[in-house]
Amino acid sequence: MTEAPTNFRFETDADGVALATWDMPGRSMNVITMAVMDELEGIVDTVVADASIKGCVIASGKSNFSGGADLTMLQGLGAEYERLKASEGEEAAMRHFFESSRRLSLVFRKLETCGKPFAAAVHGLCLGGAFELALSCHHRVLADDDKTRVGLPEIKVGLFPGGGGTQRVARLMQTGDALQMLFKGEQIRPQMARTMGLAHAVAPAAEIVERAKAWIRDGGSAVAPWDVPKFKAPSGKVFSPAGMMIWPPANAIYRRETHDNYPAAKAILASVYEGLQLPMDLGLKVESRYFAYILRTKEAQAMIRTLFISMGEINKGARRPKNVEPTTVRKVGVIGAGFMGAGIAYVTAQAGMEVVLIDRDQAAADAGKAQCHTLITGQIHRGKAKTADRDALLARITATPDTAALADCDLVVEAVFEDPAVKAEVIARVEAALPEHAIFASNTSTLPISGLARSTKRPAQFVGIHFFSPVEKMLLVEIIRGEATGDRAVATALDYVRAIKKTGIVVNDSRGFFANRCVTAYLQEGHRMLLEGVPPALIENAARMAGMPVGPLSLNDEVALDLGLRILRATEAQLGEGAVDPGQRWLLTEMVETRGRLGRKNKRGFYDYPENGPKTLWPGLAEIQPERLAPDTVDVAELKHRFLVVQALEAARTVQEGVVTDPREADVGSILGFGFAPFTGGALSYIDFMGARTFVDLARTLEAKHGPRFTPPDNLLTMAETGGRFYDALKRAA
Ligand code: NAD
Repeated sequence: MTEAPTNFRFETDADGVALATWDMPGRSMNVITMAVMDELEGIVDTVVADASIKGCVIASGKSNFSGGADLTMLQGLGAEYERLKASEGEEAAMRHFFESSRRLSLVFRKLETCGKPFAAAVHGLCLGGAFELALSCHHRVLADDDKTRVGLPEIKVGLFPGGGGTQRVARLMQTGDALQMLFKGEQIRPQMARTMGLAHAVAPAAEIVERAKAWIRDGGSAVAPWDVPKFKAPSGKVFSPAGMMIWPPANAIYRRETHDNYPAAKAILASVYEGLQLPMDLGLKVESRYFAYILRTKEAQAMIRTLFISMGEINKGARRPKNVEPTTVRKVGVIGAGFMGAGIAYVTAQAGMEVVLIDRDQAAADAGKAQCHTLITGQIHRGKAKTADRDALLARITATPDTAALADCDLVVEAVFEDPAVKAEVIARVEAALPEHAIFASNTSTLPISGLARSTKRPAQFVGIHFFSPVEKMLLVEIIRGEATGDRAVATALDYVRAIKKTGIVVNDSRGFFANRCVTAYLQEGHRMLLEGVPPALIENAARMAGMPVGPLSLNDEVALDLGLRILRATEAQLGEGAVDPGQRWLLTEMVETRGRLGRKNKRGFYDYPENGPKTLWPGLAEIQPERLAPDTVDVAELKHRFLVVQALEAARTVQEGVVTDPREADVGSILGFGFAPFTGGALSYIDFMGARTFVDLARTLEAKHGPRFTPPDNLLTMAETGGRFYDALKRAA
């Protein structure tokens, strides 16, 4: 080593086995940076040069091995490409980009072929580039504990493993399994990793380094399986009868799962397919070419920005009022032990907080607690919790109708009926039982927070905490700042939401807040298509092809059609007849009142839900459609645009109205809250990456054909003229 590494501790024991302990100063987690790559290469050089060193173990000095490459570094490479392209031309920029983006792959390959054995001793998380490092070692020992997980999750941020992952995994296991692992990006437990062939041994955490050293002492081979002459991949050759059983279906599965929206998934497929037909070094070069290409796609850039960078910033409190000291919520009151209340009680108790779960009588409160019992039992059945966890969780929940039990709560979340009068009564009564400092939150989905705050004596301590259903699954929570809501209430809500491991976005008061406004636009577009005569299956498929996880009719069934009708009527009552779409009112009334079809909850909605077997679209839909178009006459590309554009326009309106004030929140919120096509980076990034001018043109075309719901708001028109982007404001603020 030319210089002593600062990110690794390097020592050699009496037997000549070196140990490189990765322990980056000033960071809680190891990440792969330029300096780490340089030092790793230095370590390989030292091990090779020093005849007294037999081989080297790589371990971590932190509670995890490492989360992988520093994605901001990868983002930086993209920026450098743009700079070079402007100054030296595209070819020079691309050459530089390719060489820098394959640096990691070359360092790992150097380690693998250096002639001395390397072993990885892995505990805690070992993901992405870090697991690719482990894969390039000749031997892998994993800690046999609950926290250890390995995997290649790059696909989740629109990337794919560019440090040799696609080539090594495909040479370690059957091609079908390898593709599945790379496509899913799941975190794999130690024993499973061993069964899959990804690790050689699993040992108690305290012994992994010693076991890895022993493997080197005992003469472990410094030659990777694929560098042994006549190596055969587990699934044999690509061009073989066995290969033909794999590749055609793999292509079909890729299309079915991605609708060709994710270039990174396609690159995985191509990289494995081409790489398996080549020797390792060429295979790695093929992978590097795809990696350099993927890194520059707008999908990767958008997904990294939203799902990694913005999400990280939001979770670290980017939008938390800075003037409020960190708060600790120890005890939470949940009022209303129904569907939502029970879920809120469950996630709160699961995070270790005490919960007082209140309903109108003891039986109703107990029913809510029983729901928590059911939820945790499901976790036990899935192997994700133990019986002792259930006992502890239930012991933290006190179910009672007595508001006196709220006397020492720091926070109360009400989830009683969506009725302003009921809520007003509850707010006044509960507030009287609370300590002075307590924050009061409402989980209302439609009622303005500022209106509800009229029932409280402490409006500064009143805030909206809007959960999504099912509470235990959905990762997003909207925190609603009413006119009088103070910073301490917002900060406490955000701290609480973080404590229950969810992501909170802060929005200003408005009917439907942020997420439900966009979702409503999506559902309504599905209704309109149905009324226009588009075949129902085409509506659902077009939505999924556009990148939505669930079709609008299916989603509507989950939310319940009668709820939709109730909200529509409430809106009409408050804002007048013009505020609702008559076609939609007719459709929902027909479905709910004439046909008794409420959705999944009564097993009859836009779909039928047979006892045994999957749901199917209700054939009667054809009967109630006023018109029926022949499938071949429908412009599917337009349907896809309509779904995304109508939501993105609504998101843009929330920005214009000041409901959403930070584009990161709209983007993260749209993906976590309602699954807005993740490859776009979210509802505003969809516009930004397309360019406001192109988006406005598209919206105008749809407006001409389908009406004013596609009229672009003023902020977009200005952006289209000036070439502005939603994220410009963020850059200016930084
Ligand atoms: P629900 O009908 O399942 O539960 C409401 C519960 O409140 C019932 O158990 C009822 O007994 C109890 N309750 C009513 N009046 C009460 C009172 N005076 N004192 C104590 N308890 C009382 O309803 P839900 O679906 O859980 O919705 C509750 C709230 O959450 C509503 O404001 C709703 O808008 C909101 N919300 C619902 C969803 C959803 O998907 N269902 C999503 C987000 C927010």
